[in-house]
Amino acid sequence: MRSPKLFTPGPTAVPAEVLEIQARPLIHHRTEEFRRALTEAMRGLQYILNTKQPVVVLTASGSGAMEATVVNLTKPGETVIVTEVGKFSERWREIAEVYGLRVVVVSAEYGQVATPDSVGRAFKENPGATVLFTTHSETSTGALQDVEAFANIARKHDALIAVDAITSAGAHHVRTDEWGLDAVVGGSQKGVMLPPGLGYVALSQRAMAKMRAGRHPVYYFDLLKAVASAEKGDTPYTPAITLVLALERALQMMREEGIENVVARHDANGSAVRAAVTAMGMKLLAAVPSNAATAVLTPGDSAGQITKHIEKRYGVKIAGGQGSLKGKIVRIGHLGYYDESDMYTVVSAFEATLNDLGLLKSFGAGVEALRRSYQARSTR
Ligand SMILES: *Cc1c(COP(=O)(O)O)cnc(C)c1O
Repeated sequence: MRSPKLFTPGPTAVPAEVLEIQARPLIHHRTEEFRRALTEAMRGLQYILNTKQPVVVLTASGSGAMEATVVNLTKPGETVIVTEVGKFSERWREIAEVYGLRVVVVSAEYGQVATPDSVGRAFKENPGATVLFTTHSETSTGALQDVEAFANIARKHDALIAVDAITSAGAHHVRTDEWGLDAVVGGSQKGVMLPPGLGYVALSQRAMAKMRAGRHPVYYFDLLKAVASAEKGDTPYTPAITLVLALERALQMMREEGIENVVARHDANGSAVRAAVTAMGMKLLAAVPSNAATAVLTPGDSAGQITKHIEKRYGVKIAGGQGSLKGKIVRIGHLGYYDESDMYTVVSAFEATLNDLGLLKSFGAGVEALRRSYQARSTR
């Protein structure tokens, strides 16, 4: 039997063109061919992150890139601020705590977002705070935070801002330079249509100056070394060669489509899925929804049944909840290589699943709302 179609917010669908690159005979990384590919990949990342700053590619999943960012951007004893609005933003706090940083948490209930006011208050109450670690698209709740507003506040207090853009890169505009973001973190198995294994970090001049002035001891994830190598198309250690070649191809596809169109496609898919799920009588968790994934509040203890049934009966894989949201929600991923017909696949399978499990009043309202949402867009 074929493996289920992925509609999870990581890993995401990988285009055949990208898979094919990985099946080719291996090349060596200390070659012109590889240097050219890495340089192109970095240009592609700069394009989707709207930055002229260096973007380093690390051999690690997204969390590795997050840890690298914390270690390099801070030094022992510093106070940092973390917005904690879900499982992934908790990770910023956990990493910071492991390195002995004093962590000030600005929290909001899961599904909500941190307000600029609460972030401003945290800075006022902790005048020495050096870095704000925050999450653009909180994948565990499907919520999108206003990192542009947070960046303005951090700047006012002479602090840096590091943003987890792991599921916003590609789904939303991430205006790194315009918003003044100092570190922007991404991962390969999310918006850039690759298997897992690569992380990446864009770094501002301010971020690099702070690193040079003092940071935690670090070896493998030395970002200054990574930037110096990257400028020559190199990596300090053996990179995941095939993934870098695939990244170059995937970003080439995104550049051909154009970032405006990529973001518009995610907006169309996200809006349509939200309309469909709501028409099925379900409630959305996120107050401000991200176009990466839709978190759906599920009745009673049906979440586990839904994810199992949709996979077994329809060959569609969606995600459940994490942490305290386990058993309370399901998450439909629409981040990456998905078009309108893919959304028909996941929405109709979801609606049929609810129907099979007796959780639906009448079948068809969801798919009809999906159709209308796309139609409203095309006639606008
Ligand atoms: C997936 C994800 C991560 C973690 O990435 P890994 O690749 O699993 O290490 C971190 N933050 C967000 C918002 C994510 O969606």
